[in-house]
Amino acid sequence: MQLLNEISRTGRKGFTLPKCGVPVTAMPKNLLRAELHLPSLDESTAMRHWTGLSQMNYSVDSNFYPLGSCTMKYNPRMNEEAAGLSGFRRAHPLQGEAASQGAIELMYKLQESLKAITGFKAVTLQPAAGAHGELTGALMIRAYHKSRGETSRTRMLIPDSAHGTNPATCTMAGFITETIPSDASGGIDLAALEAACSGENAKTLAGIMITNPSTLGLFEANIEKITAIIHKAGGLVYGDGANMNAIIGIVQPASLGFDVLHINLHKTFASPHGGGGPGSGIVAANETLSAFLPGKIVVVSTSSTTGEPAYSLTQMPQSIGSVKSFWGNFAALARSYAYIEMIGKEGLRRVAEFAVLHANYLRELIKDDYPTPFAGIFGKGGRPCMHEFVAAPDLNPEAHINTMDIAKRLIDYGFHPPTTYFPLIVHEAFMVEPTETESKETLDAFADACKKIAAEAKATPELLKSAPHNTPVGRLNETEAARKPVLRVLF
Ligand SMILES: *Cc1c(COP(=O)(O)O)cnc(C)c1O
Repeated sequence: MQLLNEISRTGRKGFTLPKCGVPVTAMPKNLLRAELHLPSLDESTAMRHWTGLSQMNYSVDSNFYPLGSCTMKYNPRMNEEAAGLSGFRRAHPLQGEAASQGAIELMYKLQESLKAITGFKAVTLQPAAGAHGELTGALMIRAYHKSRGETSRTRMLIPDSAHGTNPATCTMAGFITETIPSDASGGIDLAALEAACSGENAKTLAGIMITNPSTLGLFEANIEKITAIIHKAGGLVYGDGANMNAIIGIVQPASLGFDVLHINLHKTFASPHGGGGPGSGIVAANETLSAFLPGKIVVVSTSSTTGEPAYSLTQMPQSIGSVKSFWGNFAALARSYAYIEMIGKEGLRRVAEFAVLHANYLRELIKDDYPTPFAGIFGKGGRPCMHEFVAAPDLNPEAHINTMDIAKRLIDYGFHPPTTYFPLIVHEAFMVEPTETESKETLDAFADACKKIAAEAKATPELLKSAPHNTPVGRLNETEAARKPVLRVLF
């Protein structure tokens, strides 16, 4: 693709201005930037340039996107239709509750559905993303301990398989984080957990932040024991439910002993993410913590004049305040509401069943070259994975073929690579989440590509080392790209 200065032609333009009806004066000098060489293009060339750029994007609308932990599922267009209805799209948060009844009713119904799905007592729709939900829940745990005068409770336990946002948000909330190792089966090491919660340690324990299914794609078999150990020591349990794809409609997280949990609507509930729009990390809490929820909670009463339901927003008694302006990202809420209503209770359960089936099917297809160390081989003492699996490929150690090489070669086959090098406890991690929205043909094609790459790794390793071969840019310096991003190249 050519740069703008290469297609620019002096004097070309793609606009005409109406005849000027006021005296022409020079632009103030301080507004003119001499270094700004704006390109001169006709309209169709400009249009083709930007359309061409947009087509370089990879998206779940163009192909398979098995990015583990991120749940890149297809987002039904029906959701966009619903969120785009003019009553929602043109609503303004300052127009007042009376003139916003439809929007607040939607929030109420979503809140109630999420309570039924999670089993919790109350829900806030305000947080804008998963990590924001974690911060919210961690601040609620802090407020709880403070309200009881237990300000020595400053230690938050985090399993070593946790998402990177977990230690980050707990630290932001003022806690000291402590890592709990995994045992040989990929679960939490119960002896280490007991030690961190007993004797003097119990007095400083704030709680645990735990993901179940874990980021290894495994259901934590001891979850009830774990939550009991924490509660016995006076701590609280934060559940990272960013990704509920494996358990939705099957397990209510509240029943596992969690006190507070966030869910990414932009993962499990089909609101787009990753550049597709703002997300929503709703937070649900049980009896112990619901009084601390932030934001406005929607309540319903019966109008004394009309007898119709009247929806209003209220603040919880010990609320930690507001974590986002107004009602959170309303459009994300509207999309997820439409999604839940459209597929219903049975549909949600089928989402989980298919998400788990697809992950196990794919894992089985590629297990010879891409073994999953913690889950073992299914059927030979191993156990099924949940909505994702973490493989540790070691395709050609002599040629130093690593997961990065495999990921880059997958791009040549037209696939977005899975998540790599996370979770940290799996060497050369290759974390695949196919989601429920893919067809068998797509899963088979991806498995084929993985197997071909495994054969190439042995026969022609240089093909992997030099991949990708057909993209506008090859291997980037990821550290430099994150620290010094160049977001706009004009010339
Ligand atoms: C995606 C994810 C998060 C973070 O969610 P964001 O919306 O990206 O902030 C946290 N925990 C887990 C397990 C996740 O998969």
